[in-house]
Amino acid sequence: MNRDRLLERFLRYVQIDTTARSDAEGYPSSPGQLEFGRLLLGELQALGLADASQNEHGIVLATLPGRKKGTVPLCAQHPPGRSGKGGQSPFSGPTVALCSHLDTSPETSGAGIRPQIIENYPGGDLVLPGDTSRVIRVADNPGLESLVGRTLITSDGTTLLGADDKAGVAIIMETVAWLMEHPEAAHCPLRICFTCDEEIGHGVDKLNVEQIGATVCYTLDGHASGEIDVETFSADQAVVTFHGVNIHPAIAKGRMVNAVRVMSDFVTRLPHNTLSPETADGRQGFLHPYEVTAGGVAEMKLKILLRDFDAAKLEERAEIARQAAAATMREFPGAKIDVVIERQYRNMAEGLVAEPRAVAYAEEALRRLGRTGKRTIVRGGTDGSRLTELGLPTPNLSCGDHNPHSPLEWACLDEMVESVEWLVALAEVWGEDDEK
Ligand SMILES: [Zn+2]
Repeated sequence: MNRDRLLERFLRYVQIDTTARSDAEGYPSSPGQLEFGRLLLGELQALGLADASQNEHGIVLATLPGRKKGTVPLCAQHPPGRSGKGGQSPFSGPTVALCSHLDTSPETSGAGIRPQIIENYPGGDLVLPGDTSRVIRVADNPGLESLVGRTLITSDGTTLLGADDKAGVAIIMETVAWLMEHPEAAHCPLRICFTCDEEIGHGVDKLNVEQIGATVCYTLDGHASGEIDVETFSADQAVVTFHGVNIHPAIAKGRMVNAVRVMSDFVTRLPHNTLSPETADGRQGFLHPYEVTAGGVAEMKLKILLRDFDAAKLEERAEIARQAAAATMREFPGAKIDVVIERQYRNMAEGLVAEPRAVAYAEEALRRLGRTGKRTIVRGGTDGSRLTELGLPTPNLSCGDHNPHSPLEWACLDEMVESVEWLVALAEVWGEDDEK
């Protein structure tokens, strides 16, 4: 792998501010995402991916045709389909998509990022030079000490680093570059896909599975190295509206029903010592009242996140909210409470069952590299949860990132190199599927 070029790519990509803006109206939510997509489009074309395109929503798509073993050196009977310059892919087998997102989290600024490169990390805490109150501590970062001698990258402490997900983008781009430079390497056809506004929950709004045109997809948006996220939460949201009766307080006796009090009563009936994010971890789910939209005596509105790895349990969570609403209405005659459940996304494990090769081949690729993978679960959702639900099985793979969304974000270049090696091996494993 070209380690220096991977680093150079990553450092160049983080210079473009692609912070997602949840208050923006258009799509994508910030112009930097379009600019970054245009840059990648040019690079993909320069690498020889002739069909590379950026659509009106800023999504970048491209194809790297597959290449069978032994098609190079040139052989009259088996013309290689390697270049994107009109070459026909010789494959009838599966196409694999590799996907990353162009935007960064709005939680921390992504403008004017000044990356700090720590070669040969000596161990110990890392004080960030732009704001010395910010320290990446060994105590808070399990696994950091095991990276002594490696190359780490941080921001200067005043911004995030943007490795979520520009490490993923750089890894995919370097994988494509490496495969184009190595015609002897056999691999399946690859679809490259860069999405927008993942961080504000709109990563696949403007994307359909047919456009991607693959049997399986991998998002490069995961933690550290060698991890395969195979499960996410299943998620619904309850929108609870409290209808009161408003009247001037001077003449309110026996007539007013105060929605603020009604909502307060309701919230105290929700469990908080269990089934709450403050008390849950591992595989435990929760109900999380998280946002009150502007309201008053006449009406209040409350949003509650319902989460569990087992989608069937979401109905139990919704029932808790309904029971609480019924009890509150008995307490406040005249009040009316509506509980509306909105579907959000489903645990990707449900969809991965249909395509067991998705995870098995990712593990096989690691075995070929002499590594052991780790299956992990995400207490949240990914673009892959939604894509999997839409019928495209999409586990999430490591891309060397740590502490995303934070000024304390850091990445490990060596782990990023490992991800490039992983993708090359993965494309080889899937390519062999065509020969079976
Ligand atoms: Zn991400």
